[in-house]
Amino acid sequence: MPELPEVEALALDLRGRLRDRAIVKVHVAAFSALKTFDPPLSALEGTLVEDVTRHGKYLDIQASGLHLVLHLARAGWIRWRDEVPTVPPKPSNKSPLAVRIVLDDGAGLDVTEAGTRKSLAMYIVREPGDVPGLASLGPDPLADEFTIDVLRGILEREGRKQIKGVLRHQGTIAGIGNAYSDELLHAARMSPFKPANSLDDEELQTLYDAIRTVLGDAVQRSAGLAASELKGEKKSHLAVHGRTGLPCPVCGDTVREVSFADSSLQYCPTCQTGGKPLADRRMSRLLK
Ligand SMILES: [Zn+2]
Repeated sequence: MPELPEVEALALDLRGRLRDRAIVKVHVAAFSALKTFDPPLSALEGTLVEDVTRHGKYLDIQASGLHLVLHLARAGWIRWRDEVPTVPPKPSNKSPLAVRIVLDDGAGLDVTEAGTRKSLAMYIVREPGDVPGLASLGPDPLADEFTIDVLRGILEREGRKQIKGVLRHQGTIAGIGNAYSDELLHAARMSPFKPANSLDDEELQTLYDAIRTVLGDAVQRSAGLAASELKGEKKSHLAVHGRTGLPCPVCGDTVREVSFADSSLQYCPTCQTGGKPLADRRMSRLLK
């Protein structure tokens, strides 16, 4: 799933390609992706792209006062095409193509979604805040306003909730998902199950630094890369996420996995949990 650094890089890449260009046509091949009906899709035709920005994990293409907002969800992606086919795409549940945006010179964007579970979302709105999930986003962890005191306040409010869940909840902090929450907890040498309000001052500082460093470095590495290069870039720098059974790059211990919410998390026992593997709650519940 694209998270803050990838969506930031996509916005940067698309800004360079789309700005001052006219949108000629928007084809929707997967009707489930379009979540709004007013303004209509046709309102975008003939608009001029002014900017492309990011809000949390949402991509916002601003054109002649309208906003085409995309949430790429788990398996969504964007592919730039120097030349889009002249024949409009056929609506189909089998093709990964969800939306095609055609520009004035025949170039365009394909918004795709792999897999059968379709959760990619597109909104056409007058204000970004008209998108429900966007209006309720928490603060951006790379914004200047995201100070250590803001993080302290968040963790105190969240009480005994597990830190992993707090970090990736979009209404609490915007833009961090399953992968980067694993990564920054590993960088902070902190258990993903640690209660949010149990951090002492030193741990708070360590976590704050990890958030800014892990996300900031990923943004810096990704800036200037094309959409096609971003996934490989992300994967090659992960220390624990998606690396179950492989050695931790810091200490060499074996990266482990436990179930968490609707998926799983990865962590290093030596770096994060005092060498002790975490109990897999889902497994132990099933075995009872
Ligand atoms: Zn380790």
